[in-house]
Amino acid sequence: MLVSRGARDEFPEPVKRILASRVGFRCSRPACGRDTSGPQEDSQLSINIGVAAHITAAAPGGARFDESLSPEQRSSPENGIWLCQSCAKLVDNDESRYTVERLRQWRRASEDLARLRLEDPDSPDAAFRELEELMPALLEEMRADIQANPTYREFILKKKAWVYNSDKPHLEYYYDDHPDLDQLMIVLANHGFVQDITYNNTSRFVFREEFVRYLRSRTAAQP
Ligand SMILES: [Zn+2]
Repeated sequence: MLVSRGARDEFPEPVKRILASRVGFRCSRPACGRDTSGPQEDSQLSINIGVAAHITAAAPGGARFDESLSPEQRSSPENGIWLCQSCAKLVDNDESRYTVERLRQWRRASEDLARLRLEDPDSPDAAFRELEELMPALLEEMRADIQANPTYREFILKKKAWVYNSDKPHLEYYYDDHPDLDQLMIVLANHGFVQDITYNNTSRFVFREEFVRYLRSRTAAQP
């Protein structure tokens, strides 16, 4: 196969539009989340400060380049994330901090938020973005648990080795997986997303419905 030196697998315009639309034209970095489009003075024109950034680079030598991908895969929506210009620069300048997995997690979270804004315009978008930045692993775990057990609301915190017996249906989160679990619960409780209902020597919480709606907003088919 002939590959011209310096060839870049850029996103076609329709792919850029899909990436932008799927996140409501907002930057997908949770700590940012800024709007990337708006009006120009000229009523015929709009401003765009968004970039369809590559999760794995468009060409060898770029950030997170993956030589195993075909040019088609490299320029498909699956390999893109919509970011504002400054966040796009940030993630390409530090690929050890902004890994492929981290960018994929941002994209999923950003799409969840866009879906939630469509369905529930009053949802506290900024608070959820803050959580996605602070505790992505715990949120992924809670999301999987709630989707598998849609009626469960109570959960306890423990070490895996601790024996805990209860007839009440509940979920469990482990200090082994999340050493800062107690601090994360304070943040969730401060936002009103969980409520502390501890009544013995085991930390016990209940999910509030608004938080459950957010955790359930991702459709099961998504990776
Ligand atoms: Zn940004």
